[in-house]
Amino acid sequence: MHDFHYVGSELYCEGVPIKTLVERHGTPLYVYSQHTLTDHFQKLDRALSPLNHLICYAMKANSNQAVMRTLANLGSGFDTVSEGELRRVIAAGGKVNQCVFAGVGKTETEIEFALRQGIYCFNVESEPELARINRVAERLRKTAPIAVRVNPNVDAGTHAKITTGTYENKFGIAFEKVEGVYARAAKLRHLRLLGIQMHIGSQLTEVAPFEKAVRKLAPLAAKLAVKYGFEFISIGGGLGIVYQPALESGSQTWWKTTAARKILTPSIYASTLVPLLQPLGLRVLLEPGRFIVGNAGALITRVEYVKRTGKKNFVIVDAAMNDLIRPAFYDSFHEIVPLQSKGSGRIASDVVGPICESGDYFAKDRALPKVGEGDHLALLSAGAYGAVMGSNYNSRSLAAEVLVHDKDSAVVRARQDLKEIWKHETIPAWLR
Ligand SMILES: *Cc1c(COP(=O)(O)O)cnc(C)c1O
Repeated sequence: MHDFHYVGSELYCEGVPIKTLVERHGTPLYVYSQHTLTDHFQKLDRALSPLNHLICYAMKANSNQAVMRTLANLGSGFDTVSEGELRRVIAAGGKVNQCVFAGVGKTETEIEFALRQGIYCFNVESEPELARINRVAERLRKTAPIAVRVNPNVDAGTHAKITTGTYENKFGIAFEKVEGVYARAAKLRHLRLLGIQMHIGSQLTEVAPFEKAVRKLAPLAAKLAVKYGFEFISIGGGLGIVYQPALESGSQTWWKTTAARKILTPSIYASTLVPLLQPLGLRVLLEPGRFIVGNAGALITRVEYVKRTGKKNFVIVDAAMNDLIRPAFYDSFHEIVPLQSKGSGRIASDVVGPICESGDYFAKDRALPKVGEGDHLALLSAGAYGAVMGSNYNSRSLAAEVLVHDKDSAVVRARQDLKEIWKHETIPAWLR
């Protein structure tokens, strides 16, 4: 599943003792395994090999250029949501003609940039957006490739903040309206109707919602494909990963449902969906983010203090919600293990950061080994929606990131210098 493992009592990433990385680069430190990245990409890619397919890695999950280059070298395209992301693809050596551009709020500037760079397709979320893309394409004397994002109104059975495919959400165009939208789009002369797209949510641990959504979309896709000469159908991302070790007694979050512990493997995913998709004869796009990169990263942090109050044992660490916001934002569970394995004694602990917010925690009432000042902990499965959601809250610098490859390692993002945090701020003349 991933390449973080103990050798004796030392936690390693691939062939590198993480302690040596900490000594060299300090903490908080994100550590990524190139082998895990590659392995997850290839497992999915192979499982889908019966289909003409393209994986467009959803780079919002982790857009570090070294991560992206690893995937670009394996032939991955990218699912992008902003001009900044497209520019990153170019900087990382990816191909824009293997990129899709998603998102509900594309600006004219962004559309123009994507068109000039030769984007593979815009995934369109509304009729005003269709009109806007058509207008920009006309001005540039180009034809814009588009797919309509369908909201299939299928509940993904996941956390509310990462559910995107029901009519409660801002995403896509209602299933019942899609045919009409394509009919109107077909009259816009600077659009080319290239395909159809959906994405129902994130961290799905069962194949059933995917199956339901594909069964719903496939007949419509088949019909429209004939009518408009589609090239592809995109089934989005959302494949879940395992965050929780099998026997963890953890905090009270929705992740603790039994469903959240199951593994949705590429082979289960593919064996269910390939037979539904193959008859369409279309290219199949998918947009996994978390599945590729989630288990490939860990956030390493140093224990600063252990504080016992009347009822609780608080382990205060040097990483905080500005480094990894998932527990605060999504009630997420991250497995926490020491870099130096300890005896079997466990103590119920809250692992918290130094930020002045009650939401600044990584675990509550977690059975952890006894640790003390100067020990280090690894928060596992932090590769997706971790570093990319980092902020400078409390004027804390963004963490450094390291990529491990076998016995090699390299800094792939230097720790942010504190002065960088305020270097774009100015004090108006009247205050001086
Ligand atoms: C976020 C997102 C993805 C990736 O989701 P994961 O759960 O990380 O696989 C794919 N497609 C769209 C449109 C998204 O918004």
